[in-house]
Amino acid sequence: MKLEHLPNEFEAARPVLQTIEAAGYEAYFVGGSVRDTILGKAIHDVDIATSAYPNEIKGLFKRTVDTGIDHGTVMILDHGTGYETTTFRSESTYTDFRRPDQVTFVRSLQEDLKRRDFTINALAMREDGEVIDLFDGLTDLENHHIRAVGDPQERFHEDALRMMRAVRFASQLDFDIIPETEAAITDHAQLLAKIAVERTQVELQKMFTGKAPQRGLAVFMRTGLWQYCPDFAAHENDLQALSTQLQRGTSSDTATWTLLATKFGLTATAITPFLKHWKAANQMITAVQTASRLAQTLLTTAPNAWQLYQCGADLTPVANEVASILGAPDRATELTQQLQALPIQHKKELAATGKDLMQAGVQPGPQLGALLGDLEYQVVTGQLPNEQAALVAYATA
Ligand code: ATP
Ligand code: MG
Repeated sequence: MKLEHLPNEFEAARPVLQTIEAAGYEAYFVGGSVRDTILGKAIHDVDIATSAYPNEIKGLFKRTVDTGIDHGTVMILDHGTGYETTTFRSESTYTDFRRPDQVTFVRSLQEDLKRRDFTINALAMREDGEVIDLFDGLTDLENHHIRAVGDPQERFHEDALRMMRAVRFASQLDFDIIPETEAAITDHAQLLAKIAVERTQVELQKMFTGKAPQRGLAVFMRTGLWQYCPDFAAHENDLQALSTQLQRGTSSDTATWTLLATKFGLTATAITPFLKHWKAANQMITAVQTASRLAQTLLTTAPNAWQLYQCGADLTPVANEVASILGAPDRATELTQQLQALPIQHKKELAATGKDLMQAGVQPGPQLGALLGDLEYQVVTGQLPNEQAALVAYATA
């Protein structure tokens, strides 16, 4: 197969491949960008694989960065764009189900493609658009199949993260994992416990934001992968239900975690350890607590001004998205209008400050904070106009 029209990203990178080839080495486009181009999807990063060793690559280009030199990766900087260029490698023994014990550079493309996870990810493309397909990845692409390269049992035993990658690709591409590959996931699911949570988190998030999350989630449940994820063990029924409730991907990772927290019925207090076990950032934890609270309200009733104000303009759409996935009516338009109609959007818009209140005789200290909080509530709920004189009078009454 030869692609006649390459996306601009590949066109721009052709001179880089040509330079490597002119020096007597081989160089190919590899990975997700080749797969996505054949599928007619937009590409986000161009990866290059080459027979040249890292030092040989560095000798060919003026500007390079050692982004992962131990693993054979050098970034070539060309006209303001960075290209990750990785020497062909074969990965030999794995003793920890995570990372190869050693990386061996090889001169053979076939060896390099053999170590890749799925046949659709083991395609290579020459700079002229000719596709090299040593593992029938093109047929699998056409049939929408995810199939491990080589023996699936061995491949998941070597690197357990590949199981999560399989379910995320099933979701992102809306593809089927072929039975033999799925059976090997079932057999090795418990090895997911050996993988750093941060890496599982990335794949889980990509699964939820993918095009067909219900597909990835169904395999995630059937194979038992869910049992080896932090704090999922007690929520089998909720996760199972989600695999039918989710008709399309969530719009963000915040929406994903809010969906899980709300579906699991977690309180704000319970959300903290849950998300900490998933290694989420503090900012994510706060956002999920806020959005989940409004989502729970939306599941039963329309929110009042104070509830909306507390969630705010950034997170209200997340709460609405989650509640509507879980069966509540979609109130997007109405909530936006209600938010815009609020007398203030932020505490800082309050017409009186702490300083104003102190000048009017209020003592500094905790009661000042409480008073400001009360003023905020009175204004948001329309009981007081947002005018300095009215606020000071209320505070000093
Ligand atoms: P995306 O579109 O999300 O970037 P991708 O297929 O490019 O998808 P990457 O994680 O960027 O995924 O990896 C690039 C390529 O490296 C993959 O296409 C695959 O060939 C190979 N690869 C990545 N992770 C693994 C792994 N754990 N085991 C084997 N091969 C892998
Ligand atoms: Mg990629």
